Amino acid sequence: MDKKKPKPEFGLLIDYEYCTGCHTCEVACAQEFTHKPGIRGIKVFEVEQTLPNGKEYLTYFPFPTESCILCPHLTKEGFEPACVKHCMAACMQFGRVEDLAKEIGRKPRMVLWVPR
Ligand code: SF4
Ligand code: SF4
Repeated sequence: MDKKKPKPEFGLLIDYEYCTGCHTCEVACAQEFTHKPGIRGIKVFEVEQTLPNGKEYLTYFPFPTESCILCPHLTKEGFEPACVKHCMAACMQFGRVEDLAKEIGRKPRMVLWVPR
């Protein structure tokens, strides 16, 4: 029988309502690690659509990738992950999954990300 993987204990709560698309989180992650070019622990996507009323609607999604390891060298010392620390819009929170999950539903446009 396969041994079950333990559930992830920590994650990132991303409130993308106020994300400005500045890409600082991407840069902070790239500076913290020595990833190959093009590899980032987080990427910011732009989603543009035309609403039924004809207005253009642009949203930014900061999206952790498979390369995100949640900055254990920082968090074990009590510091925030690099992306969280440098986001001027305070869009991200690091914490225990069970605590972050309680925040979901408090307001719209929040997602909880946990590593595999
Ligand atoms: S938590 Fe750390 S590894 Fe993950 S995206 Fe943020 S800076 Fe990169
Ligand atoms: S999450 Fe924060 S740092 Fe990243 S693009 Fe959005 S506002 Fe900028």
